[in-house]
Amino acid sequence: MLVMMKQDVSADEVEKVKEKIRALGYKPHEIPGIQRIAIGITGNSGRIDPDVFLSMAGVADAVPVSKPFKLVSREVKPENTVIRVGKSEIGGKELTIIAGPCSVESRAQILEIAEMLRDMGVKFLRGGAFKPRSSPYSFQGLKNEGLEFLREAADKTGMHIVTEVKDTETLSIVAQYADVLQVGARNMYNFSLLEKLGELKHPVLLKRGLSATIEELLMAAEYIASRGNYNIILCERGIRTYETYTRNTLDLNAVPVVKKLSHLPIIVDPSHGTGAWDLVIPMAQAAIVAGADGLMIEVHQDPQAALSDGFQSLRPDKFRYLIERLRELAPHVNRTISHGSPVLVK
Ligand code: PEP
Ligand code: MN
Repeated sequence: MLVMMKQDVSADEVEKVKEKIRALGYKPHEIPGIQRIAIGITGNSGRIDPDVFLSMAGVADAVPVSKPFKLVSREVKPENTVIRVGKSEIGGKELTIIAGPCSVESRAQILEIAEMLRDMGVKFLRGGAFKPRSSPYSFQGLKNEGLEFLREAADKTGMHIVTEVKDTETLSIVAQYADVLQVGARNMYNFSLLEKLGELKHPVLLKRGLSATIEELLMAAEYIASRGNYNIILCERGIRTYETYTRNTLDLNAVPVVKKLSHLPIIVDPSHGTGAWDLVIPMAQAAIVAGADGLMIEVHQDPQAALSDGFQSLRPDKFRYLIERLRELAPHVNRTISHGSPVLVK
């Protein structure tokens, strides 16, 4: 159910509707819009009688939401959501570029790559410290030490950190260091983790599960939103199909489909989506043409020596080439892209 308020509604009238929702045992979610305020209701198992709200002052309409995801749907909020991270935005006109190694491997590695990326205009530094690996014998990440190296690199360069949170046990430590909390594909169905993320204010980068439908991705986002955290960025990172030539099948259909169904920003990860460095550049450009709000790209100084995902990582020179192509492309899709900035010391 969505309660739509009149354009000239007062704060008191909004509060009364929220109180009514709480009194019925449900949770109100105030959704500010350009035209009007709407209040989403979650926590109900059955139908709610719209008449309960239609008689209240300031209420324009009360409509049932037909989808299994409500708060993240366009039905509830027609305008695109723009998420603020420090002085940067995700989901606005400027394309968001998130880049860095698959894993943080050493202090020197992450400090060096952060400076290279910052000089190319990248504002978001990625790197895994807690790595969910398919094999228990693969490198599992530098853990707490990796978080410290990431923070140092980000503070020195003025960048924001995007790093994965692997489980509920390590959530509080990762949340102390990260600016954006990444939920990996293997965790998209980890509902306890999603619920805990819903209680924080941190932006969450939610990656599509290995075999998840678009609707399941949106329902996973709804788990986070239903607890009160609406700062969610979706990420298409390829799905499992019968195709074996590529690591995953990058489903670019997901971009316009998500744009139609949801107000949340969506970015694309062509590194995991293809699993091959030489496919990353064409698919990154295709993602932007399809309407993605940004990209997540794995970049490594020496991909052959990388401790994880070297085969799909771009060398810095190839990444620079991609950024140059994106600079040419951006105006054709009515987007902008940040230019290299001078050293920012916080
Ligand atoms: C990653 O971003 O390094 C990662 C593990 O991605 P995914 O969860 O999409 O496999
Ligand atoms: Mn990786």
